[in-house]
Amino acid sequence: MPGKIVVALGGNALQKQGEASAHAQQDVADETARQLVPLILAGYQLVIVHGNGPQVGNIVLHEEAINTPEVPTFPLDTCVAMSQGAIGFWLQQALIDEFSRRQMKSVASTVVTQVVVDANDPAFSNPTKPIGVFYQTETEARQAANGRNFTFKEDAGRGWRRVVPSPKPQRIVEEYTVKAMIDAGVTVITGGGGGVPVVETVSDGLEGVEAVIDKDFTAAVVADAIDAEALVILTAVDGAMVDYGKPTARTIGRTNRQEMQRYIDENQFAPGSMLPKVQAALKFVEKPGRRAIIASLGSAEQALAGQVGTIIES
Ligand code: ADP
Ligand code: MG
Repeated sequence: MPGKIVVALGGNALQKQGEASAHAQQDVADETARQLVPLILAGYQLVIVHGNGPQVGNIVLHEEAINTPEVPTFPLDTCVAMSQGAIGFWLQQALIDEFSRRQMKSVASTVVTQVVVDANDPAFSNPTKPIGVFYQTETEARQAANGRNFTFKEDAGRGWRRVVPSPKPQRIVEEYTVKAMIDAGVTVITGGGGGVPVVETVSDGLEGVEAVIDKDFTAAVVADAIDAEALVILTAVDGAMVDYGKPTARTIGRTNRQEMQRYIDENQFAPGSMLPKVQAALKFVEKPGRRAIIASLGSAEQALAGQVGTIIES
């Protein structure tokens, strides 16, 4: 019997060839919905987590473009929330349209999702995730920061860029809401862009922080919280590969935690792209009876049937 699954959608599920207009991204979301709805028809209950890299980058650019007392720049946590709203809107509209085209009684809805991170996470003293605009020089970057305590790093010969911490997700604040919606049969979109990072303070409750959370790690936390049957990470390649980029490259098929850990130790997976997917997958399958899948967006159903993709069993 198919059960609850968490589907993590990568950049290719929302953008093609970097076309960033709302219209272009909605077209891609429509295509993504067409690829996901067969899973619902097959009986799976879907919870969707999506990335937001290019989208939140553009929102930050808009926010930085005007900063006056009347129209102040919003902080990064608010920008992540804005990206959840926009992308969630595109996905839920695409899903609802596809449900009605197929005369299904399903519903889909987005939850603005806060994700608790540890204020002492080592990531806060080592920001790594580049966001927003490229500057020619560090001086130019400093001027743009206008006194704000930003960290800038040189990004692969392309210029100077702001980097922000990428702390590990610990807990989904809206977990109860998400579970209630699942119980009501809703296809839930949650944890978008990895979630709005918040820390728990003694005096002020939840407080947003200037950081971004990796959406693959958040997908694993969501999947654990709802005790999903499978974590399905859908991306632009057929699965995790060994010898990636070499003539000897091959997609890893059915495997186990020990074998994947060995490949991690051999540095087979690039940090910032495939490595977090594999780490998230391994974290999820720490508990017995679970599986994690890394596959291409178009092959989700086949991957769930065990025919393609990287399938890690606990
Ligand atoms: P997403 O937007 O889905 O999170 P990413 O670009 O972050 O996608 O990560 C997926 C990409 O990781 C692949 O498209 C591929 O270019 C890259 N990659 C790096 N190492 C590997 C590997 N060992 N096997 C497969 N893909 C890899
Ligand atoms: Mg990624």
